[in-house]
Amino acid sequence: MVSDSNSTEVLVAGGGLVGAAIAYGLARRGVATIVLDGGDDALRPSRGNFGLVRVQGKGFGCPAYSRLTYDSAVAWQGFADDLKAASGIDVAYSKPGGAIVALSDEELETYCAKLEAIGRDADDLPVDYEVLDRPGLAKHLPGLGPDVAGGVYCPLDGHVNPLYLLRALQLGLQVHGGRYLANHEVTQIDSRSGEFRVRAGSRDFTAGKIVIAAGHGTPRLAAMIDAQVPVNPEHGQIIVTERIRPVLKVTTSFARQTEEGSIMIGVSRVGRGYDTTAHLETSRDIAKRATTVFPFLRSLRVVRIWACLRTMTPDGLPIYQQSKSHPGAFIVTCHSGVTLAAAHALQLARYIAEGALPEELDCFGCERFDVQAAA
Ligand SMILES: Cc1cc2nc3c(=O)[nH]c(=O)nc-3n(C[C@H](O)[C@H](O)[C@H](O)COP(=O)(O)OP(=O)(O)OC[C@H]3O[C@@H](n4cnc5c(N)ncnc54)[C@H](O)[C@@H]3O)c2cc1C
Repeated sequence: MVSDSNSTEVLVAGGGLVGAAIAYGLARRGVATIVLDGGDDALRPSRGNFGLVRVQGKGFGCPAYSRLTYDSAVAWQGFADDLKAASGIDVAYSKPGGAIVALSDEELETYCAKLEAIGRDADDLPVDYEVLDRPGLAKHLPGLGPDVAGGVYCPLDGHVNPLYLLRALQLGLQVHGGRYLANHEVTQIDSRSGEFRVRAGSRDFTAGKIVIAAGHGTPRLAAMIDAQVPVNPEHGQIIVTERIRPVLKVTTSFARQTEEGSIMIGVSRVGRGYDTTAHLETSRDIAKRATTVFPFLRSLRVVRIWACLRTMTPDGLPIYQQSKSHPGAFIVTCHSGVTLAAAHALQLARYIAEGALPEELDCFGCERFDVQAAA
C-alpha cells in the first residue's frame, strides 16, 4: 500500500535515469522511497540519448570504472527481466555485441592501444574483443563502405530502448511501493539532527537520507549540503531515419538499428553551453561519417533530429559521494546512465540502503576536483 505521507526513509531528488534507477533499486529492497522530479522544461539527457549499453573503451586510466561498467553490463539481462516482471514493460534490451569502426589503420591502432591499456589496468576482467580487418568486420556489419579500414568487435555491448527504460523504472518504483512526484522541483535542503527537510513545489518532505541525482540540477542542490559538484553540459545530436528491414546486426558507437527498424545516427560531442538546438553543421558532420561507413544510409529518409545535453564531469567519470558534513546525503551523477542503470539499481541502491559506499568507489568522490585538497 502506497503511503501519501511526506515523511519517508529516502528522498531522491531527480527522476531521470540515474535517480529513477536508484529509487527503483531502493524500493525493490523494501526501502520507503519518494522521487521528487522537476518539470517538463528540465534539460533531460534521459529523454534524448542513444540507448547503448557499452563496455568497450570504458575505463581508460580508471580501472574502477571499467569494473563498474563491466558489472553493470553483465547484470543488464537479469535487470531487464526484473524490470519487465515489475512494470510489465519490455525495455527491448539485446546484446548483439558492438563494433568500433576505423576509417584508417592509424585510427585502428590508436584505439587498440587504448583498449590494451584498459585491459592491462583491469586484467581480472574478462572483456573479450576481436580486432578485425575490413572483411572480418563486414561479417558483423554488412554494407560497409570502401573507406573502412577495420574495427573492433566486443560481444558484451548491447542496446535498449531508453525511453521504455525510464518509464519502466518510474513505474517499477511505484509497483514496489515507492512514489514518483513530477513537478516537484527541490528548492531547499536542510539537515537537522540526522534528518533531511526538503522543500519541493509547495510541499515539505522529511527523510533520513537524500540522494541528489538531478542531472544538470545537481550542482545547485549539492551546494545546499556544502558540496561543490562540477557538471558541465556537452551537446550531443542524433539523427533518426525511417524504419527499414533489419540490416545492422550489431551496434556501433555512431549507428544502431532500433527494434522497430529505425537507424539512429550520432553522436556528436560539442561544447555549446546550455544550447539545446539542433545544428545543421553538426547533422552534416555526423551524417558524413555515418554514410562513409554505411553508404546505404544515403538513400534513407530522415524522420527526426534532436539535440540533448550530456551531464559531464571534468574527467568524464561518475560522481558517487556521501557527504562528510551531512551524512546520509548522497550525490550521484554520470554520463552513461543507460549503461550503468543496472549497477545503480542493484549495487548502488544497496550501498545507499546500508548507509555507506564501499572503498572501491572512493575514486569517484567529488574531492578529486578540489584544487585546494590536491595542492
Ligand atoms: C546525445 C546523448 C547520447 C547519449 N547516449 C548514451 C548511451 O548511448 N548510453 C549511455 O549509457 N548514456 C548515454 N547518454 C547519457 C545518459 O543519457 C545520461 O547519463 C543520463 O540520462 C543521465 O541521467 P540523469 O538522471 O543523471 O539526468 P537527467 O536526465 O537530466 O535527469 C535529471 C532529472 O532531475 C530533475 N531535476 C533537476 N533539478 C531538479 C531539482 N532541483 N529538483 C528535483 N528534480 C530536479 C530533472 O527534471 C530531470 O528529470 C547520452 C546522452 C546524450 C545527451
